[in-house]
Amino acid sequence: MSDLLSAFLHLLLLFKLVAPVTFRHHRYDDLVRTLYKVHNQCPYITQIYSIGRSVKGRHLYVLEFSDYPGIHEPLEPEVKYVGNMHGDEVLGRELLLQLSEFLCEEFQNQNQRIMRLIQETRIHILPSMNPDGYEAAATQGPNMPEYLVGRNNANKVDLNRNFPDLNTYFYYNEKHGGPNHHLPLPNNWESQVEPETKAVIHWMRSFNFVLSANLHGGAVVANYPYDKSPGHRFRNPYRTTNSPTPDDKLFRKLAKVYSYAHGWMHQGWNCGDYFPDGITNGASWYSLSKGMQDFNYLHTNCFEITLELSCNKFPRQEELQREWLGNREALIQFLEQVHQGIKGMVLDENHYNLTGAVISVHGINHDVTAGEQGDYFRLLLPGTYTVTATAPGFDPQTENVIVHPGRPTLVNFYLKRSIAPVNPLRKAPGGGQGGRMQAQLRITKKKDGARKQPHRGPG
Ligand SMILES: [Zn+2]
Repeated sequence: MSDLLSAFLHLLLLFKLVAPVTFRHHRYDDLVRTLYKVHNQCPYITQIYSIGRSVKGRHLYVLEFSDYPGIHEPLEPEVKYVGNMHGDEVLGRELLLQLSEFLCEEFQNQNQRIMRLIQETRIHILPSMNPDGYEAAATQGPNMPEYLVGRNNANKVDLNRNFPDLNTYFYYNEKHGGPNHHLPLPNNWESQVEPETKAVIHWMRSFNFVLSANLHGGAVVANYPYDKSPGHRFRNPYRTTNSPTPDDKLFRKLAKVYSYAHGWMHQGWNCGDYFPDGITNGASWYSLSKGMQDFNYLHTNCFEITLELSCNKFPRQEELQREWLGNREALIQFLEQVHQGIKGMVLDENHYNLTGAVISVHGINHDVTAGEQGDYFRLLLPGTYTVTATAPGFDPQTENVIVHPGRPTLVNFYLKRSIAPVNPLRKAPGGGQGGRMQAQLRITKKKDGARKQPHRGPG
């Protein structure tokens, strides 16, 4: 009997060493338990929070990894992964649980690469954006799921067609002038979107996310914005048009980092489709309105791509380990991509944060803003750039910057309060006008000084 027991214990130990993570599908309760298990195993580098509830009241839980969970450290970028937005596309959900266990265990094992990643990055993982849809799909079981059951939320709405449409607004501004970033939400937007979408939008607005991926299934390809083509409303939506963002080169590189680090995505031929390098512009595949990745780019500082990860939307349990091994390196490398380009502080002369200061890169019609603590992050490919920081009531400051591969270049801006009246002189920063602007400022300074002579009294 004791021999049997010892053999059993040995087996148990062996199992733990060989397969520390279990490859199975996780229903909602199991998913929550797994998140808490990871948190309890790594309490000092994780935190769990809920961003809201689904239609049926299930929490949308996020697991956060950071060396200071719950705190934004200036100059440390925020990244997110979103899984299972379509409830029947389940691989992303399972991969994000595997990733969570992997990050925790490798940090404990003092894996230098993972320790550095967690020390330098704040990572937010939402394994399921559509837990109600998942339950509907999982009830069918992975063997013969009825096509599209569980794709939508419990109100039968496709969440990736449910974000406010800011593309139309942006395409108009591109032609006629107007903001090229942080486009405002429409009035009453909250009453026009589903609870899951609303929760995610509030989440996006409460963290200064820099990079993100949205994990789907049904194909194997890394898809980058725009998803919506400028002619979407007028043409046949099935007609495909390459619809690049002003950051097209960067997005293509982000998508390629994933596809080439992935076991087979980069090969291009998958699920009967062919995508060169395993990447595609969203609208050049098919145009889609009110999607999440376009919304990230047009409303926030976040650069999001959409990862289609499996031909079969609900893979059999036995396939999960192979999928994890095919995606593991790509999931890590993609997170590491947030450490490129430029970052820094935007402060005034008294070292106060200039939250909302705008960072513009000459030649790229898409600005980003500084976060609540005055820090900004601007993803850029290696090269030489002219970068300007502006804030209302301050003189713009322009710097020439070299971006190297691998590490971000630190560029701080210290803006001086402008003495000139704000409106007439403060136009968008343009190259070559600096000299004239300076001269005008000097003249205004004199006048301003003169006005400061005693001139008080009624009237
Ligand atoms: Zn999908």
